[in-house]
Amino acid sequence: MVDMGGLDNLIANTAYLQARKSSDADSKELQRRRRSLMLPGPQSCEQLRQALATDFHSLCEQQPIGRRLFRDFLATVPAYQEARGFLEEVQSWELAEEGPAKGSALQGLVTTCASAPVHGHPHPFFSPALVTKCQAATTEDDRASLVKLAKAEVMAFLQDQPFREFLASPFYDKFLQWKVFEMQPVSDKYFEEFRVLGKGGFGEVCAVQVKNTGKMYACKKLDKKRLKKKNGEKMALLEKEILERVSSPFIVSLAYAFESKSHLCLVMSLMNGGDLKFHIYSVGEPGLDMSRVVFYSAQMTCGVLHLHSLGIVYRDMKPENVLLDDLGNCRLSDLGLAVQIQDGKPITQRVSEPPLAQRGGTELERRGEGCSFPGQTEPRT
Ligand code: ADP
Ligand code: MG
Repeated sequence: MVDMGGLDNLIANTAYLQARKSSDADSKELQRRRRSLMLPGPQSCEQLRQALATDFHSLCEQQPIGRRLFRDFLATVPAYQEARGFLEEVQSWELAEEGPAKGSALQGLVTTCASAPVHGHPHPFFSPALVTKCQAATTEDDRASLVKLAKAEVMAFLQDQPFREFLASPFYDKFLQWKVFEMQPVSDKYFEEFRVLGKGGFGEVCAVQVKNTGKMYACKKLDKKRLKKKNGEKMALLEKEILERVSSPFIVSLAYAFESKSHLCLVMSLMNGGDLKFHIYSVGEPGLDMSRVVFYSAQMTCGVLHLHSLGIVYRDMKPENVLLDDLGNCRLSDLGLAVQIQDGKPITQRVSEPPLAQRGGTELERRGEGCSFPGQTEPRT
């Protein structure tokens, strides 16, 4: 998966390679790298175009590249610019900190809806019923729930004609090119390996760098032999599948997954700031200031809410699994014990007892009593 940060990085590095073009024109290595950063030609996307399900939610909401290209497309069509602008304002209201500015942003949104025309040329996406309700809204709660409704109406509008036009536009061609690009297989040769960041039950986690872009990640290497011995294969697969589904700034995200002869490798967001256990017990006086407790708790709660919205139960909340990045934001990591709820059935197994259907039915010794490969955390600087 190429995230938007990765995309910016890729663009920056392409520019860098471009800049060096004249001085190093002969370098074969450089030419090879430059080629590897180029998007595949449109003709190589036809197969994917036929195969890919054109689902609005997945293409234009869930996937960062699709979301951005869809918004770029909307900006080029005058009739859709209003919808795009409204969604942007809703988003900045949603992300705004509590306070008077947030209140006035909300008021502004409701006023926009309330002043939409309903007779003559009715508004293209706000229903007359919504407009009337917005005119009568008095409380903050009313306003907030009306804005949610308004957002849903805009999304319903966009899923129809605008989405069909997007699929026929060069923006969707570009999306397919990115998809084909990200589907290229990677191997350990794609990365430069750096220092060990920590040790897990099935192997080390190392810092790695994508050779062609310079972007840094953490690579969790799961030793195949150890996995086999401990019946952990299904579990590793489940961890990968769950990581593939999550998309939250509060959970480590999976960038690549591949296997070498000896390891299964999960390449994830690099969290350079150490884990919470290290910060609680090993930095200065034991403990954390209340303001930090509130901050981390809020971020962890957002991460857990995201998992719950996907029907995933985390089951491994502890300070060593909450990792900090360079900026001091935290993410939940280690989804090795997370489970997906199947058909709404409650989870009844203990954590050391994996669900039979999902994990092969063998006792998971890894974390239970007598565990021979305990997950340990090495403090990082
Ligand atoms: P396990 O599932 O075996 O417990 P973890 O996923 O918890 O393995 O990883 C083991 C250790 O590696 C962690 O405690 C942490 O110190 C380090 N680590 C894991 N993921 C990252 C990451 N994304 N960035 C930096 N360090 C990490
Ligand atoms: Mg762990």
